Amino acid sequence: MPDSFSIPRLLMNRLRAVMAADMDTDARLMQVVRMIAGTMVADVCSIYRRSEDDRFELIATEGLRLDAIHRTFMAADEGLVGRIARTAQPLSIQDAPRHPDFSYRPETGEDPYHAFLGVPVLKGGRVIGVLTVQNQSERLYEDDEIDSLQTIAMVLAEIVTPGTSGPEQSNATRERRSVNLKGRSLCDGLGLGRVRLHDPVIPAAKFFATDSAAEEHRLESALEELHLSIDRLLAAEIGGLWGEPREVIEAYKLLASDPSWAERLKEGVRSGLSAEASIDRLRREHRARFDKVKDPYLRERLHDLEDLDNRLLRVLAGSEDSYLKSDGSEPEVLVARRLGPAELLDYGSSGLTAIILEEVATSSHAAIVARGLGIPTVGGLDGIMTHVSRGDQVIVDGEDGSVHIRPDEGLLKAYEARQIVRSERQATFLAQRDEPSETVDGRPVQLMLNAGLGIDMEHLNTTGADGIGLFRTEFQFLMSDTLPTLIDQIDLYRKVLDGADGKPVHFRTLDLGGDKLLPNLNDAREENPALGWRSIRFALDRPGLFRRQMRALIRAASDRPLSVMFPMVTSAHEFRQAKALLEGELDWSARRGFAAPSDLKVGAMLETPAFAYALEDLGNEVDFVSIGTNDMMQFFHAADRMTPSVSDRYPFISRPVMRFLDQVRETCTRHKVPVSICGEVAGHPIHALCLVGLGYDRLSMPAGGIGPVKLMLRSLNLAKFQPDFKALIDEREPALRNGVLELVRQQGIELTDS
Ligand code: PEP
Ligand code: MG
Repeated sequence: MPDSFSIPRLLMNRLRAVMAADMDTDARLMQVVRMIAGTMVADVCSIYRRSEDDRFELIATEGLRLDAIHRTFMAADEGLVGRIARTAQPLSIQDAPRHPDFSYRPETGEDPYHAFLGVPVLKGGRVIGVLTVQNQSERLYEDDEIDSLQTIAMVLAEIVTPGTSGPEQSNATRERRSVNLKGRSLCDGLGLGRVRLHDPVIPAAKFFATDSAAEEHRLESALEELHLSIDRLLAAEIGGLWGEPREVIEAYKLLASDPSWAERLKEGVRSGLSAEASIDRLRREHRARFDKVKDPYLRERLHDLEDLDNRLLRVLAGSEDSYLKSDGSEPEVLVARRLGPAELLDYGSSGLTAIILEEVATSSHAAIVARGLGIPTVGGLDGIMTHVSRGDQVIVDGEDGSVHIRPDEGLLKAYEARQIVRSERQATFLAQRDEPSETVDGRPVQLMLNAGLGIDMEHLNTTGADGIGLFRTEFQFLMSDTLPTLIDQIDLYRKVLDGADGKPVHFRTLDLGGDKLLPNLNDAREENPALGWRSIRFALDRPGLFRRQMRALIRAASDRPLSVMFPMVTSAHEFRQAKALLEGELDWSARRGFAAPSDLKVGAMLETPAFAYALEDLGNEVDFVSIGTNDMMQFFHAADRMTPSVSDRYPFISRPVMRFLDQVRETCTRHKVPVSICGEVAGHPIHALCLVGLGYDRLSMPAGGIGPVKLMLRSLNLAKFQPDFKALIDEREPALRNGVLELVRQQGIELTDS
């Protein structure tokens, strides 16, 4: 048979005609099943759609009884359809009724059918429907038939919208109805805008190619360009310094050179798909597998594959194509499955009003960057991709972690009213900006900022903060594809010190590893990256890199004061090693005639419980201690900060945490070492209240926390609160937080979020 009459091509041509015709969704779905049954010589073709209660509803069929449409529902774990939904894999069976998962539905009249082929309809990595064909005879479907059906399922994903069940509601209404979802607040604030999807999405109009040969050529050129870009990455000046990660790029290159990947892409194009649609088809499979895999190493590899798909789509789009880009005419809400801090920074200045993320935890660095940028962000919204389309209007409520997709008039009005209240609150914070941050009984508390980007420095002015308590130097590394040079680093640090205009800045040295992985340079093979080769451990093993950073800090400070702290120090020995490297750099600089800092303070971050006990050995060898509660909490409770289901289990306001922090403060006071808190908790008024209650008087936090914490402090009589609070810690009642809230009420302490 000539190639142009092959089943895939014929199906694709016919499908293109059905998609182009003007008709409503239900009629289009019926046309699709008729067309498939006719072309594949199948007796039955049916489409099932996942309903809101997670069952699978028959929504179109050719061959089964028409009155079963909207009446037949399969439970998500029922029958062959349920099996496809669970595995997200195609299923081809010669004699379906004999299969153990077969579920007989008399109302559909399906008794005489033996051969069965079903494929998942995937959207955003989730099975939103199942497409099946059946034949009376016992037969096994050919590979190209399975492939074709998968391709059609991909097109169907664009018109089948998961929704409420029942015939009374048309698909068109379902597509437009509003959806409210609840996730986790990652950055406070309210945002309204049109959806912008982070991953390239292929518009339905781009699914088919008219000239397959030309399209295959286009795909080949894009693959070549992709290989060249990976080679360029390899050639960049990074391999030598990083050693191991070079292998990671090599592995990436290997994935890209896998002939079966390219071949599968070409097959799609030969069957009539556009190059974009062919990539998209594979990308859906990668995502569906990703969601099923638990093993972190395999997940990373599948993510790499998906990343490769996305890269290739970007190559195809070139710099011109508009469907990947924003036209900038309306405020936008970025929606992403996952987002690295560097990727988020790429959007930094493009006017996003909010961000929605599928996976992420509050203390992940994407969330921290979002807070740095002050963009309301909600995360942990599994399956968000199946609910939104590009251009949908959406409200993101970073106060309570909810998201309203296609909001109705009522919600829009409520949004406006809340924006007004927020603006009034912001005005209150602004009004107290230049007031001292001290308690009613005159106890000063230093409020500082957590920063990591040049733009963060503006917040010193807008908030009236006392300085930068934590400057995350690794953000500069995360932002660029190649390592920042000495000059790049000097430039940034100098700008930060200039911007601080004499206020103190505490530079935290490179804190890489854990969730802060450099693009393409990470070694994802560690079982537990948070407990692995990261932070100061990594820096001490890479002294070249570490010393270069010290050199940059010394040069940037010149004859100004310099304050440096090392992240995640676990033992006294590590601190001494790091300090010795810094001193070595001071000597080196002095020998070359560079000015020494007018005052040098060398501190350590306390992020592991072990270091609390190492402090006894160090005494005042350490100039200051800053407690990183984000990491400290995860190690204290052995609960991954990136996994909300475990990190949320152990509240900060708990007796063990309070007792521990009290001990650390006591140790530091005994050794006359200033101690501060620089984890995210310090920015929440109720947490800050507990810290001040324990005797901490230096807090560093995201910019949004300064106003509310200062308001709290200026309503607090510490002399009155402190003894009551300490007594509460000594009690045995389980919910410490409730006790604190009762004191807040009795003593009229102001707790307002931003
Ligand atoms: C911390 O762990 O609390 C901290 C401030 O460091 P990071 O969040 O950057 O790991
Ligand atoms: Mg940390």
